[in-house]
Amino acid sequence: MRKSAEYHIQEDGSGAGAVFVLQKIAAPLLAWYELNRRELPWRTDQDPYHVWVSEIMLQQTRVEAVMKYYARFIETLPDVQSLSEVSEEKLLKLWEGLGYYSRARNLRKAAEFIVRDCGGQFPRTFSSLIKLPGVGEYTAGAIASICFHEKVTAVDGNVLRVAARVTGSRENVLLPTVRKRMETRLREFLPDDAGTFNEAIMELGETVCLPGGAAKCGECPLRDICAAFRYGLTPEIPVRVKQMKRRQEQRTVLLLTDEKGRTAVEKRPSKGLLAGMYQLPNFDGFLTEREIRSRLEADGWKVMEITFLKDAKHVFTHLDWFMKGFQVWVAAPSEMYEWATPAQLRDQYALPTAFKPFIPSC
Ligand code: SF4
Repeated sequence: MRKSAEYHIQEDGSGAGAVFVLQKIAAPLLAWYELNRRELPWRTDQDPYHVWVSEIMLQQTRVEAVMKYYARFIETLPDVQSLSEVSEEKLLKLWEGLGYYSRARNLRKAAEFIVRDCGGQFPRTFSSLIKLPGVGEYTAGAIASICFHEKVTAVDGNVLRVAARVTGSRENVLLPTVRKRMETRLREFLPDDAGTFNEAIMELGETVCLPGGAAKCGECPLRDICAAFRYGLTPEIPVRVKQMKRRQEQRTVLLLTDEKGRTAVEKRPSKGLLAGMYQLPNFDGFLTEREIRSRLEADGWKVMEITFLKDAKHVFTHLDWFMKGFQVWVAAPSEMYEWATPAQLRDQYALPTAFKPFIPSC
């Protein structure tokens, strides 16, 4: 345990020091936010549809990257009604590049629920929002506090980082129990305007209290009360100990091309990884050119030429794909696949990012 003259920080950040710090963060944070908040399109109003779509998009992607997706999404699907009616193909196309396609499907499922079961009215409380498909505690808290002024927390990775650092907590923030404890502590000191507080602490995490050694402590309104800053622990906090073992797979990906320059695509199964998405044909393991040729010829293909394209890697949540890509020129297209022109491949088929390295125009 390290001590200072003013307060005590324990290894788990649970001591009197943690309480002392948390009860002091609201005032400087809100004053800083008033002056430093970014103008973001989903902040121009407190429309729950806008906040919801932006929060789902922001779950894995940074603000700068989300801007163009958000603008296109809202322009095409301006409200819950239009989202509930959109086709799967169009929805996935709008989501293409953001990854985690189940999130897009859950958005539509939730929109259908709101239209069908709530008379088109957006749920207004944390307890009703959390029942929507794809809406977890963080998103429900964000919508309820920002749009409907409910006094609830919204704790995402950014908020956890700030809270762990200011309290000097060395607990593993990847553990659900630790996250819950941090939420409980923050809830105790939420000001009346919880929505603005939640936005402010998220903003601080996104723009100032950055991960690793990138924190801009010199610009931070919490510098004077932050335990991590005081004791030089900023790069070490938050502690994130992963307990899950990642699975690794090798795949051979084929850019099957016919004499008209069209590319073969196929739909993945409706359940599991990248469910229902289009993909380039691919096989388990790393195959040699000879093995690719004999597999295709056994299925009746006339193979003209095979050229190695490149190696690529794609990282999913619990899985890594290591891929070798080959372009295979074939004489006559098989009906086993759909055949897409370069323009259709670009504009019509929502191919997962994993396959993009093998497509010439991407
Ligand atoms: S002083 Fe540094 S470590 Fe502490 S909250 Fe601010 S940016 Fe984060």
